[in-house]
Amino acid sequence: MMTPEHPDWAEFAEKLGDPDHCNFREVDGEFAWDCAGGSDKTYAESILKNMGLDEQGIQETFVYFDEHGGHCDCEILLNIDASMGIEEQEIEEEMEDGEGLVRAKWQMDGAQTLKEAAKMLRDFATNLEELENKGWQLTHAIEDDYGHIERDNTSNKHQKEPKQS
Ligand SMILES: [Zn+2]
Repeated sequence: MMTPEHPDWAEFAEKLGDPDHCNFREVDGEFAWDCAGGSDKTYAESILKNMGLDEQGIQETFVYFDEHGGHCDCEILLNIDASMGIEEQEIEEEMEDGEGLVRAKWQMDGAQTLKEAAKMLRDFATNLEELENKGWQLTHAIEDDYGHIERDNTSNKHQKEPKQS
């Protein structure tokens, strides 16, 4: 059965939104797409068949879609594919909070030319600056190449709040 956990989900979602199916597009700054509505999953069914799912697999998939707000073709993308994206983002943010480690060692590993090595070091430097911009800071001076960093979650959130005056 096809769910966002399936390795081919991205392929499925991309096909469902392409011009041969739901045809998600922007018209004069507004989003538009084709869908029969109701509980019509004609596009999804033909794509899943082409991807090799049997009748039982398709029925199981549709039960999953219905349970997660994907009653018609467009809702599968809007409610299931889109909500998965948000979940991933939240997890990423969570992982960014707390403590971490920055190390300069091995940052130019794999470079084949001096120029390439220089670029890798510049990219690394940019990453360090981005971390600081996101609220990270060293807990104490870097020693033996170990840079312990942490982010004060509460003060960071506070800065984001709009000022009222
Ligand atoms: Zn729809």
